[in-house]
Amino acid sequence: MKSYVTHLECTACGTSHDHHQAVRTCPDCGKVLFPRYDLARIRREVSPQVFAGRPATMWRYFELLPVLDPANVVSLGEGGTPLLKAEALGRKLGLTSLYIKDEGLNPTGTFKARGLSAAVSKARELGIRRLTMPSAGNAAGAMAAYAARAGLEAHVFMPRDAPEANRKECMAYGSHLTLVDGHIGDAGKLSRQRAAQEGLFDLSTLQEPYRVEGKKTMALELAQDMGWRTPDVILYPTGGGTGIIGMWKAFGELIELGWVEGPMPRFVAVQAQGCQPIVAAFHQGKDRAEPWPRPQTVAQGLKVPGPFADYLILRIVRETGGTALAVPDGDMVQAMAEVAREEGVLPCPEGAATLAALKRLVAQGYFHGDERMVLLNTGSGLKYMELVSGEVTQGDASSA
Ligand SMILES: *Cc1c(COP(=O)(O)O)cnc(C)c1O
Ligand SMILES: [Zn+2]
Repeated sequence: MKSYVTHLECTACGTSHDHHQAVRTCPDCGKVLFPRYDLARIRREVSPQVFAGRPATMWRYFELLPVLDPANVVSLGEGGTPLLKAEALGRKLGLTSLYIKDEGLNPTGTFKARGLSAAVSKARELGIRRLTMPSAGNAAGAMAAYAARAGLEAHVFMPRDAPEANRKECMAYGSHLTLVDGHIGDAGKLSRQRAAQEGLFDLSTLQEPYRVEGKKTMALELAQDMGWRTPDVILYPTGGGTGIIGMWKAFGELIELGWVEGPMPRFVAVQAQGCQPIVAAFHQGKDRAEPWPRPQTVAQGLKVPGPFADYLILRIVRETGGTALAVPDGDMVQAMAEVAREEGVLPCPEGAATLAALKRLVAQGYFHGDERMVLLNTGSGLKYMELVSGEVTQGDASSA
């Protein structure tokens, strides 16, 4: 196996940059960098049939990933998650081809594992030994786990009110955790300060080029599991946007490779009512999002008031003919219970938000009933026990 990565390209100014050096954002304009691949050569030298014969982790797509030497891969078995047909939910909603991609089965219980497996692997390849990240949640846990696996040092800066599950997993994986008075923006300031002072490498969402490459493997799996056809619609719970951007990038690569039938899927960006900067900008026809004041939601992954890659997310939703909408927390919590009861999958509130959004769009007549739709469940509900109803049917022990 070998990687066909050729260079880094800026998503805003288009300049090319060397991928043998540790860079974060574009040296010319400060925007998001994408790794690019020699797709013409991949088309000549690689057949997509080879992937099925390899172990079912995201690293089976090595040719389309940025690590040069397989020995640098830091893996805990991420990827290869199931695409489940949601028959019961589909019947209720009049949809014949509704699917759930269940990312809750990943290491650390969320799809953040894919991004951090890619980023930590590439960091190791570039000789970076000390990592940092401001995060209120699952990204920090994943970075801490992969850093532990790789023997690298990890620093995490979290708001003091971050969820217990995320604080504890960071501690368990041996990272250096600093709890910050204030919100995620304050944690980011401290992380950047320490990075500058101590030479730590900051892995913040889309502020380094490689997490998005891990996330893009979700689309490669979707295409493969659908017999190398594209789905029609993907509903994605959007925070910083790595997942939506990564999948869009991957479908673009697959279409250019001629490996898939069907057009680019329409992307539906789902946000929380209490933090919806992308939804607001989408409906106002703007290319950039205004920072959302006082973000408030139980879905930690969606609590991103000022996404760094707002311009890319908005472009993707518009260009693919998708849409953006927000749902209230109460609907997410109800949808968690419904997905669990109907399909046997206990989703995280972010993943459940896609069902709540789907219901609204179905009621508006937005879909055709036979379109192939994917709800992206980004993590396991087991990390959000406080949102899972603990009600039990009272049994009578004496009559048993
Ligand atoms: C981070 C996260 C999201 C949002 O992902 P982005 O790539 O930042 O848009 C959604 N769900 C969960 C569970 C997350 O941890
Ligand atoms: Zn640039």
